[in-house]
Parts: sequence; structure tokens; C-alpha cells
Amino acid sequence: MPIYEFKCPGCGKRLEMLSSMGEKGNGLVCPACGHAGLARVFSTFATGGRSEGGKSSGGCAGCGGKGCATCH
Ligand SMILES: [Zn+2]
Repeated sequence: MPIYEFKCPGCGKRLEMLSSMGEKGNGLVCPACGHAGLARVFSTFATGGRSEGGKSSGGCAGCGGKGCATCH
């Protein structure tokens, strides 16, 4: 199960959560302020590209979709 990063539009807190593929955060609730519906954040941190280098240079390398339409 992949780790996705979400940002709460209510309090601005960033959260990392284990979510099923395709999770967009609509059904998630912020544990800090209780705001329903979190915004998904696409970060290299969540996909493991923090300090690896190289791997993240391919654009869609960390994307599970078929193309950039699903990750950009
Ligand atoms: Zn919040």
C-alpha cells in the first residue's frame, strides 16, 4: 500500500497516510482540526525520491498511472 501525502485545506497541516491506490483524500478527515476532505499532495518525499537522486529525473518515474495525466 502506497504512502500518500495530503494537505488539510482547513488548517494547512500536511499528513502522510497509507491509502489505497487512487485515493484522492475526499473521504479523509483531518485528525488535527476535523476538516473533511483533504487535498492530495504529490511529493518526491512520499515516493521515496528524497535523497536517492536519479530515480526522480524521469518525470513519471514515481507515478503509478499510465502517463503524466494522472500525476501532473
Ligand atoms: Zn486540518
